[in-house]
Amino acid sequence: MTARRTSRSPRTPVAESTEAALPTTAWKNAFRKSLRAWFDRERRDLPWRRSRDPYAVWVSEIMLQQTQVATVIDYFNRFTAAFPTVAALAAADEHDVLRHWEGLGYYRRAWQMHRAAQVIVAEHGGKFPNDAATIRTLPGIGRYTAGAIASIAFDLPEPILEANTVRLFSRLAAFRGDPHAKPGQDYLWQWAAALVPTREPGLFNQALMELGALICTPREPRCGQCPVARLCPTFKLGLQREIPRLKKPPKFEDVHEGALIVRQRGTRNVLLVQRAEGQRWAGLWDFPRFTLAAEQPANIAAELQQHAHAALGLKFVVGERLYTLKYGVTRFRITLDAFAATTGGGRLKPVGYAAAQWVPLDELPGYPLNVSARKLAQQLRDDETGLFAAQ
Ligand code: SF4
Repeated sequence: MTARRTSRSPRTPVAESTEAALPTTAWKNAFRKSLRAWFDRERRDLPWRRSRDPYAVWVSEIMLQQTQVATVIDYFNRFTAAFPTVAALAAADEHDVLRHWEGLGYYRRAWQMHRAAQVIVAEHGGKFPNDAATIRTLPGIGRYTAGAIASIAFDLPEPILEANTVRLFSRLAAFRGDPHAKPGQDYLWQWAAALVPTREPGLFNQALMELGALICTPREPRCGQCPVARLCPTFKLGLQREIPRLKKPPKFEDVHEGALIVRQRGTRNVLLVQRAEGQRWAGLWDFPRFTLAAEQPANIAAELQQHAHAALGLKFVVGERLYTLKYGVTRFRITLDAFAATTGGGRLKPVGYAAAQWVPLDELPGYPLNVSARKLAQQLRDDETGLFAAQ
């Protein structure tokens, strides 16, 4: 690596602050040409790239938020097979939509897509809006997703900025500020807007994301294989590890939760609750679960009985601990203990849930559950003979 600039490379922009310059015309032309040639050679064949249907672009972009490409491929294929058009998604049962999203996490995304499809049918005659400003009014669609759909599906020169391009632009601008703070974001959006061409902007935006995903990777960027290395000041300065500035690592917090596997007397039913809008896992079904303060087994049972009675109206008798799972949600490291329980009177009247239902054990596979609830449900079905014989 060297800090020396070759005489054949257009001057590279170096940003010490957000006041820094944007790329010059000569730099942009050289960058676009190199990037395009590389993308033509190296682009991955991904299912959503086989079409410019805005619906397919939308589904893929929403799924790819917070989720790896390799995971998204199967989900995308299953989802678009089940709901091939905006109209099909709008008409689908919410239960079904969430079931197809199960395991992808961040369920609010699916819930909002379902709402957005209904808005497109009701307010746009079922036709996907074809400008970024209108696309952005749809539920769950922000500036980045609107730019991606408008550029890829409608060839509009809209900029994009997501995780891959934040990193790539930070390095191309040698931007040493915080790329996630407001001034840094504003600067990088300006970069993106300055860079996007009027000709084939959708291909250009996809190429940017591909370069960020495959070459300009977070820890060890593959500068030796990078088609724009000669234009990159971060490479020339040897600052790949310093740029972009890293986020502070999150402080993890340990949480203890208790779930109740409540069996309905004389049946093979268990009690499920549906998470309300605004809650974690909104729309999904779950076993009643509560955050626990108590540590002693006797106190845990009493605490669960109290929480469950307040939340569901029934009285509960909490029995033995059946399973323990460990899982993570954002910065929380959660230990979930699941207890057998039966009801001890009262009327089922959920408070703070969208719904509560007795569900036959055999029907659990058809219910959209969060990942930890699905693991409990599978365990329960494996063990059902023993558990239900104990009634
Ligand atoms: S040269 Fe290295 S740091 Fe610069 S854009 Fe390419 S991969 Fe990223």
